[in-house]
Amino acid sequence: MEQKISGLIVAAGRGMRAGGGIPKQYRVIAGKTVLRHAAEALLAHPAIMDLQIVIHRDDMDLYRDATKGLPVMPVVFGGKTRSDSVLTGLKALEKSKPDTVLIHDAARPLLPIQVIDNLLDALQGNKAAVPCLKVVDALWRGDKQVEKPENRDNLWRAQTPQGFDFKTILNAHQLATQPADDDVALARQMGIKVAITTGSEQNFKITTVADFARAEKELTNMDIRTGNGFDVHAFGAGEFVTLCGVQIPHSNGLSGHSDADVAMHAVTDAIFGALCEGDIGQWFPPNDDQWKGANSAIFLEKAVQRVAERGFTLNHIDCTIICEMPKIGPHAAAMRAKMAEITGLTLDRISVKATTSERLGFTGRGEGIAAMATTTLVKS
Ligand code: MG
Repeated sequence: MEQKISGLIVAAGRGMRAGGGIPKQYRVIAGKTVLRHAAEALLAHPAIMDLQIVIHRDDMDLYRDATKGLPVMPVVFGGKTRSDSVLTGLKALEKSKPDTVLIHDAARPLLPIQVIDNLLDALQGNKAAVPCLKVVDALWRGDKQVEKPENRDNLWRAQTPQGFDFKTILNAHQLATQPADDDVALARQMGIKVAITTGSEQNFKITTVADFARAEKELTNMDIRTGNGFDVHAFGAGEFVTLCGVQIPHSNGLSGHSDADVAMHAVTDAIFGALCEGDIGQWFPPNDDQWKGANSAIFLEKAVQRVAERGFTLNHIDCTIICEMPKIGPHAAAMRAKMAEITGLTLDRISVKATTSERLGFTGRGEGIAAMATTTLVKS
């Protein structure tokens, strides 16, 4: 039977150490609160069915703003200690009868989906599991001066979410007689074995002012952009048209200042669009003689170079060519290969397709060829 998995975020802390005058989980990084980033990371996992958040009762307004539009369960208020807050959250989840619960810190906004996958794998055979990273730096004990090295074998840095069989952790919290730092510590006190799974450096906890800058940088780096491009060239004298760098025999050529490669122009414009750097006409003015008869590969190469200079990676190209004739299909593979050569993309990230306009309009009357393109860039 399918396991029911719930998320629980404990966001009741008053942590002001990181500055800003409000608890750190309500500070905004990259346009969203830290809490919202953490909640969205859990909700993004297809196996997590519902999400319970525990907050401090003074933070209701902040919470409402932070979670606007998110499919979360009705909020509950935490207690004096972290353990009290977790128990309140677990009790609130009880009625939805989860098999498994993942308990996460609100202050870890950059939780990769892989960390959740690792955890869920480990929970197949364990009642509890925790994502960890091996300690790789040398460890020294001392006070102002180094006193002695510590052995770092089998030492781990613990992260969240910490995953548990729901009934087991609920029981442990209900029976616990002494406070614990976190749920793994509590589980251990109750004699529950906790498996170690692979965490991620990206999944760091925001504690200091510098951590905000780091999180902002990492989240801003997840900049994904889509650009579109459109171009038209009229038929003129000639015996072939050039489309995406491939010469296709035809009863006409295409007229234009350069080689009139309408498809490559659309792709190039889509890239400039994603970068918000104007259009092909601004980069290569049609009244500039040096571009007369130019191979349009030069334009695409320039756009690809700008992508790299701006710190992006070109991720995908989709180009649609609109004409009655010539037939594009037999040449699409060669066009994709040509653009792969220019952009460095693999073929599975380059699409060239064609359509007619059902004999309507200028393309339908065979007066020229139109092309449109969409490109995706990812900040690298
Ligand atoms: Mg053009």
